Amino acid sequence: MARCAFCDADFKIGPGDLLLVCPYCGTAQTTDGAKFQDHYMIRVHFDQYEAQTTLLDWVSKQLGVPADLPVQTKFVQTQQIWYPFWISRVDADTTYRGLGRDAHFHNEWPQRRGAYKNIEYFWKPESGQFTRRHEINIAAVKDIDPDVRGHPIPTRAKEYFSHAHAEEFDGKVLHSNMTMEQAKESAKQIAIDRQTQLILSEVDKIESREDRIDVGETFLIHVPVWELEYRYGNRKYKASVSAPTGYVIESKYPRSMAFRAAGIGVGLIMLLVGIGLIALALDLLGFGAIFPGGGLISGGLLTIIGLVLMYKGASRKEAKEKV
Ligand SMILES: [Zn+2]
Repeated sequence: MARCAFCDADFKIGPGDLLLVCPYCGTAQTTDGAKFQDHYMIRVHFDQYEAQTTLLDWVSKQLGVPADLPVQTKFVQTQQIWYPFWISRVDADTTYRGLGRDAHFHNEWPQRRGAYKNIEYFWKPESGQFTRRHEINIAAVKDIDPDVRGHPIPTRAKEYFSHAHAEEFDGKVLHSNMTMEQAKESAKQIAIDRQTQLILSEVDKIESREDRIDVGETFLIHVPVWELEYRYGNRKYKASVSAPTGYVIESKYPRSMAFRAAGIGVGLIMLLVGIGLIALALDLLGFGAIFPGGGLISGGLLTIIGLVLMYKGASRKEAKEKV
């Protein structure tokens, strides 16, 4: 439990929570009760029903989804979760010296232009500089779905956090597992890693480097996400929809019997062809071996793909596409 330093209410916190948002008055504060000012949010533009409609529209367009899904679906859970993210602007300036791989070409083949008898590789010293401004975005809770963690946040649309606005939708505002100092430290490390990637696009070995990393404006932003669960038939499926944009962050969905039956059919054909090729390659039928090596490999591959398709068709597991 923690006690709000501003409204005196007691509220629940978890073991890793370091920057708290009082669920009664909405004030962001450190565990010592110091007010945290740089606290923003992205406004909700899709209410519960719009989020559900958007999700059903999206799901019905997916391959093999049963045609009656929009009418047969029942939402069993709809909750708005406000996920905290730390956003830092980091100015990075790196000068480096390194070695790039290069080659000398000798003795071109007379009959093949551009082909050489001798190629001599060597390391060539190179140096350069990268100046970049990075916007680093770090999820402030450890327990977060990777799709939610990586979903695009329209930070330009940020406004000061409004407790009343989150309350309007019964939103659950999560505490941050990170202090601002920790977030800045992580942002610095991530910026250095990105600079490293830039250098490695120019040289193969880094001999020396000098980084000037300036972690600038850093703020906490709460982003509302609709966490939905719906029932179709006798199974339940989960989905996350961005409340500001209606973007379907991720969704699981069912596939129709017909779609799965087609998968089994195609799988079966591939399996039979694959077995046929293997049989020919091994000369099991006594015709004399026809394409011995290639037949064995392609036959084996077809057999495996066929089995996978049949397994996928037969399993009742829900589907999930990359959005
Ligand atoms: Zn309070």
